[in-house]
Amino acid sequence: MANPEQLLGSTLAEWIARPGAGSRPNEASLYRQFHRHGSHPDVPVDGRQITTVQLEGETRKFLLQHTDGVQTESVIMPIEGRSGRIRHTLCLSSQVGCAMGCTFCQTATMGRVRQLTTSEIVAQWHWAKHSLNADITNIVFMGMGEPMDNLDAVLAAIEILVDHNAAAIPASRVGVSTVGHAVGIRRFTRFMQQDGMHQLRLAVSVNAQNEETRQSLMPIARAVPLSALLQAMQGWIDAGGQPILIEYVLIPGVNDTPTAAAELATWLGKLPCRINVIPYNPKVDSPWPAPEECQVSQFIQAVAATGLSVNRRRTTGRTVMAACGQLGTT
Ligand code: SF4
Repeated sequence: MANPEQLLGSTLAEWIARPGAGSRPNEASLYRQFHRHGSHPDVPVDGRQITTVQLEGETRKFLLQHTDGVQTESVIMPIEGRSGRIRHTLCLSSQVGCAMGCTFCQTATMGRVRQLTTSEIVAQWHWAKHSLNADITNIVFMGMGEPMDNLDAVLAAIEILVDHNAAAIPASRVGVSTVGHAVGIRRFTRFMQQDGMHQLRLAVSVNAQNEETRQSLMPIARAVPLSALLQAMQGWIDAGGQPILIEYVLIPGVNDTPTAAAELATWLGKLPCRINVIPYNPKVDSPWPAPEECQVSQFIQAVAATGLSVNRRRTTGRTVMAACGQLGTT
Protein backbone atom coordinates (compact mmCIF):
# COMPACT_ATOMS: atom_id res chain seq x y z
CA MET A 1 0.00 0.00 0.00
CA ALA A 2 1.30 3.44 -0.90
CA ASN A 3 1.66 5.89 1.94
CA PRO A 4 0.10 9.37 1.78
CA GLU A 5 3.39 11.10 1.16
CA GLN A 6 4.08 8.89 -1.82
CA LEU A 7 0.69 9.74 -3.20
CA LEU A 8 1.09 13.44 -2.53
CA GLY A 9 4.60 13.35 -3.86
CA SER A 10 4.71 11.21 -6.93
CA THR A 11 1.11 10.89 -8.04
CA LEU A 12 0.22 14.51 -7.49
CA ALA A 13 3.37 15.67 -9.17
CA GLU A 14 2.33 13.56 -12.14
CA TRP A 15 -1.17 15.04 -12.17
CA ILE A 16 0.15 18.57 -11.82
CA ALA A 17 2.02 18.08 -15.05
CA ARG A 18 -1.25 17.18 -16.73
CA PRO A 19 -3.86 19.78 -15.77
CA GLY A 20 -7.37 18.38 -15.97
CA ALA A 21 -6.26 15.34 -14.03
CA GLY A 22 -5.09 13.32 -16.95
CA SER A 23 -6.89 11.89 -19.87
CA ARG A 24 -8.09 8.59 -18.43
CA PRO A 25 -11.56 8.91 -16.86
CA ASN A 26 -10.73 6.71 -13.91
CA GLU A 27 -7.70 8.81 -13.12
CA ALA A 28 -9.76 12.00 -13.14
CA SER A 29 -12.28 10.47 -10.80
CA LEU A 30 -9.59 9.30 -8.37
CA TYR A 31 -8.08 12.77 -8.44
CA ARG A 32 -11.43 14.33 -7.52
CA GLN A 33 -12.16 11.82 -4.81
CA PHE A 34 -8.73 12.20 -3.31
CA HIS A 35 -9.00 15.97 -3.02
CA ARG A 36 -12.66 16.33 -2.19
CA HIS A 37 -13.19 13.41 0.10
CA GLY A 38 -9.68 12.53 1.16
CA SER A 39 -10.31 9.04 -0.10
CA HIS A 40 -8.41 6.82 -2.40
CA PRO A 41 -8.74 3.05 -2.80
CA ASP A 42 -5.16 2.50 -1.69
CA VAL A 43 -4.51 5.41 0.58
CA PRO A 44 -6.31 6.19 3.82
CA VAL A 45 -5.67 9.78 4.87
CA ASP A 46 -5.36 9.39 8.60
CA GLY A 47 -3.23 12.29 9.74
CA ARG A 48 -0.18 10.22 10.54
CA GLN A 49 1.93 13.09 9.33
CA ILE A 50 0.49 15.62 11.75
CA THR A 51 2.79 15.66 14.74
CA THR A 52 1.41 18.54 16.78
CA VAL A 53 -1.73 20.61 16.98
CA GLN A 54 -1.73 23.67 19.22
CA LEU A 55 -4.82 25.68 20.00
CA GLU A 56 -5.60 29.22 21.04
CA GLY A 57 -9.35 29.53 21.02
CA GLU A 58 -10.44 28.60 17.53
CA THR A 59 -6.99 29.20 16.02
CA ARG A 60 -5.11 25.99 15.32
CA LYS A 61 -1.44 25.69 14.46
CA PHE A 62 -0.38 22.31 13.13
CA LEU A 63 2.94 20.77 12.28
CA LEU A 64 3.24 18.43 9.34
CA GLN A 65 6.18 16.09 9.12
CA HIS A 66 7.62 15.40 5.68
CA THR A 67 9.57 12.38 4.49
CA ASP A 68 13.00 13.79 5.34
CA GLY A 69 11.86 14.70 8.85
CA VAL A 70 11.50 18.46 8.33
CA GLN A 71 8.31 20.03 9.55
CA THR A 72 6.10 22.74 8.19
CA GLU A 73 3.91 24.93 10.32
CA SER A 74 0.47 25.97 9.11
CA VAL A 75 -2.28 27.90 10.87
CA ILE A 76 -6.06 27.67 10.58
CA MET A 77 -7.66 30.97 11.59
CA PRO A 78 -11.37 31.69 11.97
CA ILE A 79 -12.18 35.10 10.52
CA GLU A 80 -15.59 36.73 10.72
CA GLY A 81 -16.71 38.14 7.39
CA ARG A 82 -18.80 41.29 6.91
CA SER A 83 -21.96 39.17 6.88
CA GLY A 84 -21.04 37.72 10.26
CA ARG A 85 -20.28 34.32 8.77
CA ILE A 86 -17.16 32.66 10.13
CA ARG A 87 -14.69 31.68 7.43
CA HIS A 88 -11.57 29.62 7.97
CA THR A 89 -8.39 30.93 6.47
CA LEU A 90 -5.49 28.55 6.10
CA CYS A 91 -2.07 30.16 6.30
CA LEU A 92 0.31 28.03 4.26
CA SER A 93 4.08 27.73 4.45
CA SER A 94 6.04 27.81 1.21
CA GLN A 95 9.49 27.02 2.60
CA VAL A 96 10.99 25.48 5.71
CA GLY A 97 12.55 28.51 7.38
CA CYS A 98 13.27 31.60 5.33
CA ALA A 99 16.32 33.36 3.91
CA MET A 100 14.93 36.88 3.98
CA GLY A 101 16.14 37.81 7.46
CA CYS A 102 13.40 40.24 8.53
CA THR A 103 14.47 41.38 11.97
CA PHE A 104 11.02 41.15 13.56
CA CYS A 105 10.32 37.60 12.41
CA GLN A 106 10.88 34.34 14.25
CA THR A 107 11.05 32.27 11.07
CA ALA A 108 14.05 34.32 9.94
CA THR A 109 16.10 32.95 12.83
CA MET A 110 15.98 29.49 11.21
CA GLY A 111 17.52 30.61 7.92
CA ARG A 112 16.21 28.78 4.88
CA VAL A 113 16.30 25.05 5.56
CA ARG A 114 14.80 24.03 2.24
CA GLN A 115 12.17 24.73 -0.37
CA LEU A 116 8.84 22.93 -0.15
CA THR A 117 7.64 21.00 -3.15
CA THR A 118 4.26 21.67 -4.70
CA SER A 119 2.86 18.53 -3.14
CA GLU A 120 4.17 19.49 0.30
CA ILE A 121 2.41 22.83 -0.02
CA VAL A 122 -0.87 21.25 -1.14
CA ALA A 123 -0.49 18.62 1.60
CA GLN A 124 -1.00 21.35 4.21
CA TRP A 125 -4.45 22.07 2.76
CA HIS A 126 -5.18 18.39 2.37
CA TRP A 127 -4.42 17.52 5.96
CA ALA A 128 -6.20 20.59 7.33
CA LYS A 129 -9.34 19.60 5.47
CA HIS A 130 -9.33 15.85 5.75
CA SER A 131 -7.56 15.16 9.02
CA LEU A 132 -8.51 18.22 11.04
CA ASN A 133 -11.91 18.53 9.33
CA ALA A 134 -11.46 22.25 8.81
CA ASP A 135 -13.80 23.92 6.37
CA ILE A 136 -11.20 26.03 4.59
CA THR A 137 -12.65 28.89 2.58
CA ASN A 138 -9.59 31.08 2.15
CA ILE A 139 -5.89 30.45 1.57
CA VAL A 140 -3.02 32.81 2.25
CA PHE A 141 0.64 32.17 1.61
CA MET A 142 1.79 33.94 4.75
CA GLY A 143 3.32 31.11 6.75
CA MET A 144 6.97 30.15 6.88
CA GLY A 145 9.02 31.35 3.95
CA GLU A 146 8.91 33.89 1.15
CA PRO A 147 6.57 32.53 -1.56
CA MET A 148 8.27 34.52 -4.32
CA ASP A 149 11.51 32.74 -3.44
CA ASN A 150 9.88 29.41 -4.32
CA LEU A 151 7.52 30.57 -7.03
CA ASP A 152 7.58 27.53 -9.33
CA ALA A 153 6.22 25.33 -6.54
CA VAL A 154 3.82 28.01 -5.26
CA LEU A 155 2.25 28.69 -8.66
CA ALA A 156 1.80 24.98 -9.34
CA ALA A 157 0.19 24.62 -5.89
CA ILE A 158 -2.20 27.48 -6.66
CA GLU A 159 -3.27 25.69 -9.84
CA ILE A 160 -4.32 22.71 -7.72
CA LEU A 161 -5.89 24.80 -4.97
CA VAL A 162 -8.20 26.62 -7.40
CA ASP A 163 -8.86 23.57 -9.61
CA HIS A 164 -12.58 22.66 -9.53
CA ASN A 165 -11.63 19.01 -9.44
CA ALA A 166 -9.22 19.52 -6.57
CA ALA A 167 -9.43 21.94 -3.65
CA ALA A 168 -11.83 24.24 -5.56
CA ILE A 169 -10.97 27.37 -3.57
CA PRO A 170 -12.06 30.41 -5.64
CA ALA A 171 -9.07 32.37 -6.94
CA SER A 172 -10.53 35.47 -5.25
CA ARG A 173 -9.88 33.75 -1.92
CA VAL A 174 -6.27 32.86 -2.56
CA GLY A 175 -3.63 35.41 -1.62
CA VAL A 176 0.13 35.47 -1.87
CA SER A 177 2.11 37.67 0.45
CA THR A 178 5.59 38.85 -0.37
CA VAL A 179 8.26 40.71 1.47
CA GLY A 180 8.62 42.91 -1.61
CA HIS A 181 10.32 40.65 -4.15
CA ALA A 182 9.92 42.79 -7.29
CA VAL A 183 10.91 40.09 -9.80
CA GLY A 184 8.49 37.68 -8.13
CA ILE A 185 5.68 40.24 -8.18
CA ARG A 186 6.15 40.70 -11.93
CA ARG A 187 6.02 36.96 -12.52
CA PHE A 188 2.99 36.56 -10.28
CA THR A 189 1.37 39.37 -12.27
CA ARG A 190 1.80 37.39 -15.51
CA PHE A 191 0.37 34.32 -13.78
CA MET A 192 -2.64 36.32 -12.56
CA GLN A 193 -3.40 37.30 -16.16
CA GLN A 194 -4.10 33.68 -17.10
CA ASP A 195 -7.65 32.37 -17.43
CA GLY A 196 -9.30 31.77 -14.07
CA MET A 197 -6.58 33.55 -12.08
CA HIS A 198 -7.61 37.21 -12.43
CA GLN A 199 -9.06 37.45 -8.96
CA LEU A 200 -5.95 36.26 -7.14
CA ARG A 201 -4.81 38.54 -4.34
CA LEU A 202 -1.43 40.11 -3.76
CA ALA A 203 -0.23 41.26 -0.37
CA VAL A 204 3.01 43.14 0.14
CA SER A 205 4.72 43.34 3.49
CA VAL A 206 5.86 46.97 3.58
CA ASN A 207 6.20 47.50 7.33
CA ALA A 208 7.90 50.86 7.08
CA GLN A 209 7.18 54.46 6.34
CA ASN A 210 10.44 55.21 4.56
CA GLU A 211 13.54 53.65 3.02
CA GLU A 212 15.69 53.94 6.11
CA THR A 213 13.26 52.19 8.44
CA ARG A 214 12.50 49.53 5.86
CA GLN A 215 16.19 48.79 5.40
CA SER A 216 16.62 48.48 9.17
CA LEU A 217 13.81 45.91 9.37
CA MET A 218 14.09 44.03 6.08
CA PRO A 219 17.36 43.23 4.30
CA ILE A 220 15.57 42.88 0.94
CA ALA A 221 15.01 46.65 1.01
CA ARG A 222 18.68 47.15 0.15
CA ALA A 223 18.18 45.22 -3.10
CA VAL A 224 14.67 46.48 -3.84
CA PRO A 225 14.24 50.17 -2.99
CA LEU A 226 10.79 51.56 -2.42
CA SER A 227 10.70 53.08 -5.93
CA ALA A 228 11.28 49.65 -7.53
CA LEU A 229 8.73 48.05 -5.23
CA LEU A 230 6.15 50.69 -6.08
CA GLN A 231 6.80 50.15 -9.78
CA ALA A 232 6.23 46.40 -9.44
CA MET A 233 3.01 46.97 -7.49
CA GLN A 234 1.78 49.51 -10.04
CA GLY A 235 2.50 46.90 -12.73
CA TRP A 236 0.14 44.49 -10.92
CA ILE A 237 -2.61 47.13 -10.89
CA ASP A 238 -2.02 48.13 -14.52
CA ALA A 239 -2.34 44.47 -15.54
CA GLY A 240 -5.81 44.33 -13.98
CA GLY A 241 -4.88 43.00 -10.54
CA GLN A 242 -7.09 43.54 -7.53
CA PRO A 243 -6.20 46.30 -5.03
CA ILE A 244 -3.11 45.32 -3.09
CA LEU A 245 -3.10 44.53 0.60
CA ILE A 246 -0.27 46.49 2.21
CA GLU A 247 0.82 44.73 5.37
CA TYR A 248 2.25 46.89 8.07
CA VAL A 249 3.63 45.25 11.21
CA LEU A 250 3.28 47.96 13.83
CA ILE A 251 6.34 48.03 16.09
CA PRO A 252 6.42 50.43 19.04
CA GLY A 253 9.05 53.13 18.68
CA VAL A 254 9.93 52.08 15.12
CA ASN A 255 7.08 52.82 12.75
CA ASP A 256 4.07 53.77 14.86
CA THR A 257 3.85 57.58 14.90
CA PRO A 258 1.29 59.79 13.13
CA THR A 259 4.21 61.15 11.09
CA ALA A 260 4.99 57.60 9.97
CA ALA A 261 1.36 57.20 8.87
CA ALA A 262 1.60 60.39 6.81
CA GLU A 263 4.91 59.33 5.25
CA LEU A 264 3.43 55.96 4.31
CA ALA A 265 0.48 57.65 2.62
CA THR A 266 2.76 60.00 0.69
CA TRP A 267 4.92 57.15 -0.52
CA LEU A 268 1.98 55.00 -1.63
CA GLY A 269 0.40 57.90 -3.51
CA LYS A 270 -2.64 56.84 -5.50
CA LEU A 271 -1.87 53.12 -5.59
CA PRO A 272 -5.16 51.19 -5.17
CA CYS A 273 -4.55 49.41 -1.90
CA ARG A 274 -5.73 48.75 1.61
CA ILE A 275 -3.49 48.93 4.66
CA ASN A 276 -3.59 46.00 7.03
CA VAL A 277 -2.08 46.98 10.36
CA ILE A 278 -0.66 43.97 12.18
CA PRO A 279 0.20 44.65 15.83
CA TYR A 280 3.71 43.25 16.29
CA ASN A 281 3.79 39.75 17.75
CA PRO A 282 7.05 39.48 19.70
CA LYS A 283 9.46 36.80 18.56
CA VAL A 284 11.55 34.94 21.13
CA ASP A 285 13.95 37.41 22.85
CA SER A 286 12.40 40.28 20.96
CA PRO A 287 13.96 43.74 21.40
CA TRP A 288 10.49 45.26 21.05
CA PRO A 289 7.28 44.66 23.00
CA ALA A 290 3.87 44.23 21.42
CA PRO A 291 2.15 47.59 20.95
CA GLU A 292 -0.50 48.72 23.41
CA GLU A 293 -4.07 48.86 22.15
CA CYS A 294 -4.07 52.66 22.30
CA GLN A 295 -0.94 52.82 20.12
CA VAL A 296 -2.60 50.58 17.53
CA SER A 297 -5.80 52.64 17.49
CA GLN A 298 -3.92 55.93 17.24
CA PHE A 299 -1.89 54.70 14.29
CA ILE A 300 -4.98 53.37 12.52
CA GLN A 301 -6.73 56.70 13.02
CA ALA A 302 -3.70 58.54 11.64
CA VAL A 303 -3.65 56.33 8.54
CA ALA A 304 -7.40 56.74 8.03
CA ALA A 305 -6.97 60.52 8.30
CA THR A 306 -4.72 60.42 5.23
CA GLY A 307 -7.61 58.98 3.20
CA LEU A 308 -6.16 55.50 2.91
CA SER A 309 -8.37 52.50 3.50
CA VAL A 310 -7.12 50.74 6.63
CA ASN A 311 -8.04 47.90 8.89
CA ARG A 312 -6.49 46.03 11.73
CA ARG A 313 -5.46 42.38 11.64
CA ARG A 314 -7.07 40.67 14.60
CA THR A 315 -4.36 39.27 16.81
CA THR A 316 -4.82 35.54 17.11
CA GLY A 317 -2.63 32.64 18.06
CA ARG A 318 -0.04 34.69 19.92
CA THR A 319 0.10 32.40 22.95
CA VAL A 320 0.92 29.34 20.82
CA MET A 321 3.35 31.32 18.65
CA ALA A 322 1.00 30.94 15.71
CA ALA A 323 0.56 34.63 15.02
CA CYS A 324 2.13 36.50 12.11
CA GLY A 325 5.93 36.44 12.27
CA GLN A 326 6.04 33.83 15.03
CA LEU A 327 6.22 30.56 13.09
CA GLY A 328 9.29 28.40 13.46
CA THR A 329 9.43 28.15 17.20
CA THR A 330 8.48 24.55 17.77
S1 SF4 B 1 8.56 38.03 7.50
FE1 SF4 B 1 8.26 36.51 5.86
S2 SF4 B 1 9.88 37.00 4.40
FE2 SF4 B 1 10.49 38.01 6.32
S3 SF4 B 1 11.80 36.50 7.34
FE3 SF4 B 1 9.69 36.16 8.07
S4 SF4 B 1 8.90 34.53 6.76
FE4 SF4 B 1 10.69 35.40 5.74
